[in-house]
Amino acid sequence: MSSPIHVAIVGSGPSGFYAADTLLKSGQPVLIDMFERLPTPFGLVRSGVAPDHQKLKQSIQVFEQIAGSPAFNFFGNVTIGEDIKVEELRQAYHAVIFACGAQTDRRIGISGEDLSGSHTATEFVGWYNGHPDYRDRSFDLQQEVVAIIGQGNVAVDVCRILTRPVDELRSSDIAEHALEALSQSRVREVHVIGRRGPAQAKFTTKELRELASLTGVTATIEPAQLRLSPVCETELAHPTASNAKKNFDVFGSIAANVPASDKRRIHFEFLASPIEIRGKDRVEGLTLIRNRLSGEAFSQQAVATGDPFELSCGLVFRSIGYRGEPIAGLPFDAVKGVLPNQRGRVGQDGAPLGGIYVTGWLKRGPSGIIGTNRADSIETVESILEDLGKATVWEALGMAAIETTISGLRKKVVGLSDWRAIDAAEIERGAARGKPREKFTRIEEMLSCCP
Ligand code: NAP
Repeated sequence: MSSPIHVAIVGSGPSGFYAADTLLKSGQPVLIDMFERLPTPFGLVRSGVAPDHQKLKQSIQVFEQIAGSPAFNFFGNVTIGEDIKVEELRQAYHAVIFACGAQTDRRIGISGEDLSGSHTATEFVGWYNGHPDYRDRSFDLQQEVVAIIGQGNVAVDVCRILTRPVDELRSSDIAEHALEALSQSRVREVHVIGRRGPAQAKFTTKELRELASLTGVTATIEPAQLRLSPVCETELAHPTASNAKKNFDVFGSIAANVPASDKRRIHFEFLASPIEIRGKDRVEGLTLIRNRLSGEAFSQQAVATGDPFELSCGLVFRSIGYRGEPIAGLPFDAVKGVLPNQRGRVGQDGAPLGGIYVTGWLKRGPSGIIGTNRADSIETVESILEDLGKATVWEALGMAAIETTISGLRKKVVGLSDWRAIDAAEIERGAARGKPREKFTRIEEMLSCCP
């Protein structure tokens, strides 16, 4: 095939950029148009990765190089499904790859979940990272006791930002409004609650160790909570369980800690599920129930024992995992929160729609680290090239086919040079404060930088 393959990528996070990279390196002539709802690219690397983990943001340098290819174009501030219909895109491109991530949260499904003072981790993470959708959220950091439901790495991020001395965040790219609120924080005690046991916690050990060694913070665990059943011991002894085994060793050393009254405290609670978030007008506490584990090694589930207990707290963060959102006109697996697909080909019951592909969290669910998306996107691009190799390739005009729609939009469409102007302005604002960047947190501010 000598004329270029036109590919649209919807979403500019890691999975979208890895798909672009794989296409550019495929040896095929290709033209890529990437669409992004926000004026700024990089998805969760910009607005999910914690500000005190700047190293993880280095992948942006790789994404910038990909974006610099002459075969790559960026269209920011464009929402597919609203500004451009999915079907219009499908007709314009040989392949459309949805790489929109998992944009919402799972719900626990208990009463009080929507009380004032009960928040999703996504809101808090978006707020401290300056995401425009969460700019105007507020969190009552005058509360002394906070509960976080869930024991994954997002819970660790939330807990660390709540407990880390604020001065250690000042030279990060944390949003200024969050820095201001955190500097007034009265939070003293954060409970990190898991429905299963210490052998099943999903933290990565590096993140757990960092949390357990924060300055001015003591981590605690009731030693009795670390007693393992034979099934849990089997799990930890398995060669594939090295992360869980290392976590368990860290929990062991935490259990030996003695809380100090002059320090903030992080307390890990295992085998407990909230059954109600209590409060009249706002959160006053949690009612939890003790669990036991049931099932085979590696598929043990939490089963309530009927033994309830109370925790008084003024703020709750639900950090129980993200969920993909449906896209109008495309099939959706509501149980997994993904677009049903086979090796990235979107379709139901093994029948691909044709021309529509998916990658990243919207393909496999919200798991893994940034790099995990590379293999995922490689698989999706392999499917595209295989399909195009088999079919008699129809004519697709790419951008030329939707130019009229794009130019008819009554809003600024952000190109790469516009993004670079936003980027430069953010870096300049940051330099004045000793930060790598000070993000714009409102879309109008971002657009006002565009030449
Ligand atoms: P996660 O790792 O899947 O953890 C979700 C937690 O919520 C688990 O403890 C889970 O328990 C619990 N949970 C789920 N449903 C629940 C319910 N109904 N009631 C109570 N607890 C419930 O998800 P995540 O923390 O959102 O992280 C998403 C992905 O991003 C992960 O792959 C994570 O490693 C990655 N991430 C990485 C970093 C980093 O590398 N620094 C930072 C942030 C996120 P069960 O185990 O019982 O299901």
